Amino acid sequence: MTRENAKSTVAVRECAGYDGVAEAVAAALADIRQLETFRGKRTLLKVNLMRATPPEQARTTHPELLRAMIRIVKEHGGTPLVAESAGIIGFTEECFEASGLGAVVQQEEAELVNLDAQDMRRVAIDGKELRSAYLPAILWECDVLVTLPKLKTHTLTTFTGALKNQVGLLPGGSKCAIHRTASTPARLGEAVADINAAVPFHLGVMDGVVGLEGGGSVKGKPVACGIVGASTDLVALDAVCCALVGIAPEEVPTTVAAAARGIGRGTLADIRVIGRQPTEPVASFARPGPEPKRNPLVAKAVYRLREQALWPAVVRSECRQCGTCAEVCPVDAITLDPWPTVARSCIYCFACRERCPAGAMRLSCKWYLRSAFRGRAKELPLRHML
Ligand code: SF4
Ligand code: SF4
Repeated sequence: MTRENAKSTVAVRECAGYDGVAEAVAAALADIRQLETFRGKRTLLKVNLMRATPPEQARTTHPELLRAMIRIVKEHGGTPLVAESAGIIGFTEECFEASGLGAVVQQEEAELVNLDAQDMRRVAIDGKELRSAYLPAILWECDVLVTLPKLKTHTLTTFTGALKNQVGLLPGGSKCAIHRTASTPARLGEAVADINAAVPFHLGVMDGVVGLEGGGSVKGKPVACGIVGASTDLVALDAVCCALVGIAPEEVPTTVAAAARGIGRGTLADIRVIGRQPTEPVASFARPGPEPKRNPLVAKAVYRLREQALWPAVVRSECRQCGTCAEVCPVDAITLDPWPTVARSCIYCFACRERCPAGAMRLSCKWYLRSAFRGRAKELPLRHML
């Protein structure tokens, strides 16, 4: 095999606005010969739903890119499922609504998969940071896994794209445990590589029509970048897309860690780019400013608080004592005596709350975190918080 043949391929199509995104996505997938990938396949589309914000804030995968992917999957004989566990922990359904992604799923008659509400599976991970994780079983019930990241900066990893989007596979507050244990950017890069090695995605389609520079999902500013990227190599996709906004792949710990493991190619010289070349950047993203969570002690403390901010709590007057919550708990943390009691072994996945048929399992917030949580989730109705 020649070196040229050994290269990964990334397609980058230019796209001035979301009214043209369907054509750009289809063209990018045709460039890398992936349009027939979906035929007869249950295809999971993993969006990025870090915040509960409308599409114009560019913090989430744009609904029109999702619409384009759903239609492409259907037109090519596949069955699309749209999945996420949102960054506003415990409120995935509400985040789907607030972002406009839920409406698109409904309009296009796709299946919405709230990853917090699934049967969970303990997966052994022989990783550098992770030994195991509880992950939604539906990941192993789909034939094709497609990640749909947003092109944006991240306060810890500088850039977040196709690889880091998979942190959202971890249900509820359990995703915070990764940030808590892998408490430096380099270790977080390794943890993200661990997840991607454990759950290999087949394809990534990057929403770079409007990206987000500066302070990441919370404080970042939208920037028109006018691109859509696609590749079966997520490491290469991230490397090319970050280079296109002026960030070297070597600056991004997720790319560095995943490339070193051989998950994909992170060096531009090893990547064949069809379309807009990384030597002609579309933007020069401002980097995230100083971030206290880059200090491992601060990171451990903040993510511990965030992980444990919400706790499943039963409203006894509404509970039917049916036992569903105990059945779905992946770590057997619930006992019925006769009311459900939650033990400290809870991993904050919130499957019990999502699956309670009576809506009797709510989320209780520690009093001293209540105003911080409400500030973080100010766009949401917080229907099931006590
Ligand atoms: S699932 Fe809901 S109704 Fe059933 S026992 Fe648990 S809290 Fe009660
Ligand atoms: S009690 Fe069990 S199901 Fe409920 S959040 Fe905790 S680990 Fe998840």
